[in-house]
This record gives sequence, structure tokens and C-alpha cells, in this order.
Amino acid sequence: MVLTELGTKIIESLKKNQGAKPEHYIETTTQICKALEEANVSTDIIKIFKRNVLKKSIGSKKDTKINMQKIVVNELIEMLDPKTKPAFHPIRGRSNIIMFVGLQGAGKTTTIGKYANYYRKRGWTVGLVCADTFRAGAFDQLKQNAVKVHVPFYGSYEEKDPVKVASNGVSHFKSKAFEIIIVDTSGRHRQEKALFDEMANIRKVVKPHEIVFTLDATIGQAAFDQAKAFQQEVDIGSCVITKMDGAQGGGGALSAVAASGSPISFIGDGEKFDDFKKFSAEGFVSQLLGMGDIHGLIERFEASAIDEKQLIKSTTKMMEGDFTLRDLKTQLEALSGMGSFSKILEMIPGMQEMLNIRANPDDPTQTVSSQMTYKFAQMDRVLKSMSKPELDSKTVFTEESRIKRIAHGSGIKQEDVTQFMHSFKAMMAMFKKMGKNGGLMQMMKQMT
Ligand code: GDP
Repeated sequence: MVLTELGTKIIESLKKNQGAKPEHYIETTTQICKALEEANVSTDIIKIFKRNVLKKSIGSKKDTKINMQKIVVNELIEMLDPKTKPAFHPIRGRSNIIMFVGLQGAGKTTTIGKYANYYRKRGWTVGLVCADTFRAGAFDQLKQNAVKVHVPFYGSYEEKDPVKVASNGVSHFKSKAFEIIIVDTSGRHRQEKALFDEMANIRKVVKPHEIVFTLDATIGQAAFDQAKAFQQEVDIGSCVITKMDGAQGGGGALSAVAASGSPISFIGDGEKFDDFKKFSAEGFVSQLLGMGDIHGLIERFEASAIDEKQLIKSTTKMMEGDFTLRDLKTQLEALSGMGSFSKILEMIPGMQEMLNIRANPDDPTQTVSSQMTYKFAQMDRVLKSMSKPELDSKTVFTEESRIKRIAHGSGIKQEDVTQFMHSFKAMMAMFKKMGKNGGLMQMMKQMT
């Protein structure tokens, strides 16, 4: 069961049994435990959850006003927060060395790209070191990711000793005072002595401030043993759980890692570099139950690589009724710089339920959210297929030859491009009218 289903089931059970009698508490708890079981959470963890919820609801006789929702939310947060180690935060003004470990295929190389991207967007200087000399092509893969997220990399095609490469790479970036130095180590198909020896040797030499263990959510409850084994061998500082997008074992993996005592620092929920979220048990539970994740949203705003000057300029032009396709492009790019549109909207409290409304009664897969994401991508493709003069044009063009060329370039149907241009024309007309009446600001003032 995917996590959105788990969230819906918990919300439903809480809504259904709103009485204040012991049997209501028991019924709600039983239903939630069943949903947790279906989400692959281990029976041991569920037992603890059940015991605590019942103790706090029917167990507390003194309290006549029991808030079941609050109890459930708190216990879910407890379940996902091991509270064993303080979370690692890189420190400004020093070279923070972060070593990544994990089994092959878990998503380590992709996660390193995401991690680098995350910090670079927040203004840190980041360098990648490829100490995976075991897997052919590892260096090239890391290099490609480094180029895509615009950070420098270090590695060698000739040097076969991973310890040497790691040590040289770290020295290289340290000498340039890089603030975040990420060391990629090799993975193996399974846990074996050679892998752990290599990790221990690299660790001794590079002396990392943080060791991040990358783990695949689809392994579910098996995450407990894997996290424990890596903890014992290399003393991991935190875990990143990858492939949380639609992962069957997502709930099981998250709760199992927390139960193993390792904090979860980030989760990966897609193949793009922006599909990466700082994990907080509170934020996660809040979003799971459709209550949004305001902290996560603020974090995204802070990190969005928005060219603020450009954005202010285009917004001012829009408000004054002087708006071009290039301004529309700037605004859409600013939004997409924050990551996938639907994932951002889901962080707004109360929005998740609205986004999941079916947009087409005959097709359950078409939700408001999926349609928005689709349309957003279509607009982006149409705008990218336009020439510079077209983007800057003060008048809306509708000539068939141009529309045909744009349709061909973007892979969007000709009638859809025409529709887009008509919508833009209507938008321009609306803004022009507003411009004549003193602009959007004036109109808003009149309304308030
Ligand atoms: P490594 O062997 O551990 O370095 O794994 P890779 O980084 O090469 O990733 C293995 C596969 O998992 C690749 O196809 C990635 O695109 C994919 N992957 C990594 N992270 C995620 C994620 O969060 N979601 C999804 N859907 N795929 C992911």
C-alpha cells in the first residue's frame, strides 16, 4: 500500500469513530493498526504503537476530553523519530566532509547528485569525489550528475586504490576551501567483508563529519537489518531513504530505519534532482494526514533558484498590463525551480485532498494534481519551442505557419498550441484592461 493510501485510511478511521467511549478508541486504533500493517510496518512496531495509543486514550481516566487525533499524530511521530543522535548540520566556514555508503542499486549516485544540488542551491560550495573504483562506469555516472547539478568533481580513471582517490579528492577540495565535500564510496550487490573493509579504510583516511547511508525504500522491513549492519560496521550518522515515490515498502522502511536507531535525514521521491526532501517526522506525518508541511514548503521557497530581479520585473510588467510570453516563461521557470508543481502544492495544508479530486469521472488516474502537472509541462514545452522575437512580441501571433512550427518543435498538437495562444491573448487583454484602470494593484485596493 502506498503512503497516500495509508494517510487516507488513518484519516477515515479518525473521522468514523469520533465517540468518546473506550470501544471507539479501540476500534479506531485497530483500524489504524490494520492500515499500518498493510503499509508494511512491522508487527513489533505496530504493537508498541497500539499499546501507547490505548494507554493514552482509554488508559487516562482522569482526562475526559481526549483528543484521539492528537494522540495518533504524536505516536506516529514517535514511531518515525528515534531521538538517538542529534541531526548533522554542516557548519559554514569549514570543509564538511560527508561520506556516502550503501549497497549497489540503492540509489546512492543519484542521491549524491540530489544532496549536492540541495546544498548548492542554498549557497554552499560543493565538490564531489568519486572513490568508487570497483564498479566500471561509476566515475562517469557521478561526473554526469555533477555536471547536471553544476558542481565540480574529482576522480581518476587510472588510480585503482579507492582510499588514495578519496584522500586526494578531499585534499583537492579542502585546499580550495570547499564547504561541502561529498565522498562517494563503492557499493556491492550485498553486504560482504570486502565492502565493509573498504568503507572502514576510507573512513579512517578522510575522517568524515557525517556518514550517510543510502537505502532503498522498496526493501521494506528488511531495512532494519541493513541499517543495523551498516551502523555496526561504519557508525552511520543518518540515512537517506530513496524511491519513496509509490514504494510499496515505504512505510515499512521508514519505521524500520527509525527503530534501528538511525535518524532519517532526507527522503528521495523521484528520479529528478529536485525530488529530494529534508525529512522531519513531524512534517512527514503532517503531510501524510493531509495537513500539509509548512516547514517543508518554506524550505523550498528559500532554496528555489529564482532570479528574483527577473521575477520582480516580470511581475511588475504583468501588473502594469505590459506582459509578454517571455514574462510568462520567467514566472513558470521560477515555479519549476522549486521542484515538481504537484509536490509543492501538496505541502499546502488542506491541499492534498483537493488535488486528489478526480478530474475526469471516467478515469480515476486523472486527478486535479496530475492534470495540473501535465498542463504545466505542456506550457513549458510550447514556450521552449518559441524563438526570441516570438517570446518578446508585444502582439499575440496566431499565424498558422508559426503555430505549426511550434507544435512540431514541442510535440504538442497544433490545436493545443492554438488554444494556448488564444488563452494568452485573453490574459493579455485582461491585464491591459487592468493597466488602463490603474493596474492590478489598484484593482486589489478597490476590492479591499
Ligand atoms: P547506486 O548503484 O546506488 O549508485 O544507484 P543509482 O543512483 O545508479 O540508482 C539506481 C536506480 O534507481 C536509477 O535508475 C535511479 O534513477 C533510481 N533512483 C534513485 N533514486 C530514486 C528515487 O528516489 N525514486 C525513483 N523512482 N528512482 C530512483
